[in-house]
Amino acid sequence: MAEDKQKVFNWQLNREMEYPYEAAAPQKQVAWVFDTNKCIACQTCTLACKTTWTSGKGQEYMWWNNVETKPWGFYPLGWDVRLLDKLGAARWENGVYKGKTIFEATPPGEMALGFLPHEEDWARPNLGEDEITGGTIKPGDYLQGVHSRWMFYLQRICNHCSHPACLSACPRKAIYKRKEDGIVLIDQERCRGYRECVKCCPYKKSMFHPPSGKSQKCIACYPAVEKGYQTQCVNNCIGKIRFFGFINPSEKAEEDNPIDYLVHIAKVAKPLYAQFGTQPNVYYIPPIHVPLKFQAQLFGPDVEEAVKTYKQAHNDKTLKGLLVLMVSTDRIIRRFAIKGDEVFGYDASGNEVVRVPVNEPIYERPFFDKERNVYRHSIT
Ligand code: SF4
Ligand code: SF4
Repeated sequence: MAEDKQKVFNWQLNREMEYPYEAAAPQKQVAWVFDTNKCIACQTCTLACKTTWTSGKGQEYMWWNNVETKPWGFYPLGWDVRLLDKLGAARWENGVYKGKTIFEATPPGEMALGFLPHEEDWARPNLGEDEITGGTIKPGDYLQGVHSRWMFYLQRICNHCSHPACLSACPRKAIYKRKEDGIVLIDQERCRGYRECVKCCPYKKSMFHPPSGKSQKCIACYPAVEKGYQTQCVNNCIGKIRFFGFINPSEKAEEDNPIDYLVHIAKVAKPLYAQFGTQPNVYYIPPIHVPLKFQAQLFGPDVEEAVKTYKQAHNDKTLKGLLVLMVSTDRIIRRFAIKGDEVFGYDASGNEVVRVPVNEPIYERPFFDKERNVYRHSIT
């Protein structure tokens, strides 16, 4: 049965909202930024996660990290559109969310608005991969910025939400949010596999494990994070699209914290489906070639500004520096600084862990190499 609702402030909605528990902000909050424009859907992140955490019996269908092609890709099938159908169109006015969250639209006797996917819905994680919206691509489409036919890759992990629906839904109180870093975990001793978390997580990132009869989910590679290393999905990213770190509340944003800079200061990275109300901690740099009307549903009403900012990154040394700092080290970068034409990353103790040129040098090789008597094509 639903417990008494509390009021918590959700900065992504710019208003208070109902939640079953009082707000209890952790000392630090893990967060990720994913640049959708750079992803090539190689699924290296997916396999890095799988081989590290879910290669056991009964975990075959379990992809804690998945990369799906929007608009047709889903894992599990229809995970977002089925919930959006129930919740209705998102309504924003002057930056304030006016619609209901999944906690405010809770049906009687439930903990949040949700649904339990059918077993089959988890069976085909790459359904719709690389499919475009439909029709044929006309000559010259690529010159027009936003494409008439499009698709983009959406990288998905548990959001380690600030107001987790999985946690609030658990009748056994088996799910907890760590005080030290905000990582959300399922206590495998307490869990009885009622699947309320699977039903209520709007991102469908809590999954049922039949052999143990318990639910399992992304653990944010906490053994690595505790030692100052980034998560497996970040370290192995071929496209260098990912950044891991810690985010401050919006009113305490720090200019030299990489995640704060991208989310709160440059405002170039946006939460996915903020209207669900869980205050997710994965932030997306939206794609530049996708119609903004579609994107506003996913990334909120300010998505146009984020796209504009991103397209001007070449004129903004700080933003450009941060974008090249992505996946440049396996260490967690807590602070960054631009000095001259280099960007520096520092760990929690202030030690330099990486430095990268803001502008990568380009070498153009002569077309004809006299010494070897060969012709070469330069790839820059
Ligand atoms: S994404 Fe889902 S499983 Fe992860 S913390 Fe949020 S509600 Fe829980
Ligand atoms: S490894 Fe990086 S580039 Fe490859 S699919 Fe994952 S997020 Fe995309």
